[in-house]
Amino acid sequence: MHMKYKRILLKISGETLLGNDHNIDPATCDFVASEIKQLVEAKVEVAIVLGGGNIFRGKAAEDHGMKRTTGDYIGMLATVMNSLALRSAFAKIGVDSRVMSALDMPKVCEPFIRDKAMRHLEKGRVVIAAAGSGNPYFSTDTAAAIRACELDCEIVFKATKVDGIYDKDPKKYSDAIKFDRLSYLDVINKKIEVMDSTAIALCMDNDLPIYVFELMKHGNIKRAVMGEKMGTTVQ
Ligand code: UDP
Repeated sequence: MHMKYKRILLKISGETLLGNDHNIDPATCDFVASEIKQLVEAKVEVAIVLGGGNIFRGKAAEDHGMKRTTGDYIGMLATVMNSLALRSAFAKIGVDSRVMSALDMPKVCEPFIRDKAMRHLEKGRVVIAAAGSGNPYFSTDTAAAIRACELDCEIVFKATKVDGIYDKDPKKYSDAIKFDRLSYLDVINKKIEVMDSTAIALCMDNDLPIYVFELMKHGNIKRAVMGEKMGTTVQ
């Protein structure tokens, strides 16, 4: 089975992990881990950045009177919780992974050190880059773009709830049209809410393609990494 990419960065929003009864749904973690296992078995090197929106978002907290920086640090800590849950799901099915955090917490996980992360990837370990960029006022989408650049990933796979980028919400409009391909500037100018503009700009400046696809369908991530056309490429 031929894989189009050798090293990828997978960005998964925190909301993906949200369950009815849990902020972090164990069954969803198990599903995501088993999907990624197929890539590891096919010798694809996988770095993951998880969001924290299922637990906390700094901007939303600011709207309710909290200091933005405090909210952002809480948000970054939320991503560490998500990352630990995903690592646990990987461990259950025999996938070797490491949580590497942008905020140092040596009793919980490794610090994110670029060269160490590269070694983990080369040894076939999944790297879960936690705590975003380590800086307030950023998003985990931007952290995903940064980690993808510094880890020499060929592409950012952005997992969403729909199977690509549409001209309007496909859940509301049956005549919504899916784009196969968009430019970075299209995304910025049309204000398409797929990744924030900082993340898009970083990908554009570094010629890093983004592939938007639906993660929660069995086999989708593997087909996407094999190069099958399903979602939307931003290039
Ligand atoms: N965050 C931050 N710096 C970063 C990444 C994340 O301050 O580099 C904070 C920010 O408050 C953000 C929260 O962590 O709202 C959770 O991340 P995000 O909203 O990107 O998660 P997602 O929407 O992907 O679940």
